[in-house]
Amino acid sequence: MKDCEICGNEIPDSMMTCRFCGGRQESVPVRRARGRVRTVNLKLGIRGVDDGIVRLQCELERARSSGAAVLKVIHGWGSSGKGGSLKEACHAQLRREMRALRIADFIPGETYSDTSPRARDLARRHPDLKCSWHSDTLNYGMTLVEL
Ligand SMILES: [Zn+2]
Repeated sequence: MKDCEICGNEIPDSMMTCRFCGGRQESVPVRRARGRVRTVNLKLGIRGVDDGIVRLQCELERARSSGAAVLKVIHGWGSSGKGGSLKEACHAQLRREMRALRIADFIPGETYSDTSPRARDLARRHPDLKCSWHSDTLNYGMTLVEL
């Protein structure tokens, strides 16, 4: 299994089109600009969880300086990976970023749905998110960070 380069859901290695979001797998870093929403696949080219956290901090800084409002972080499901779960490490780092007031909020994909007032508010503030509402909803492989 591998993680979709677009949405982070797990798909078979041989699959060239994701069955969750329909995204084509190009094996290149995906950083699609959709208005003020940026996407980063944290899992591409990192050597382990610590490396992933350094990359996360770097990408947050880059997103901020580019004027992005939301960074969609693809970290995978956290079920595998060298040295522990990248997903849990990401959430721990994002809690630190929040306490330090460097980010406004973050919403793990598994709580991102129509039934969540926080998710609906976020999408209302950043309408670009509505383009990918369906592939992001209940997506355990990603987290949305509001900058
Ligand atoms: Zn996908």
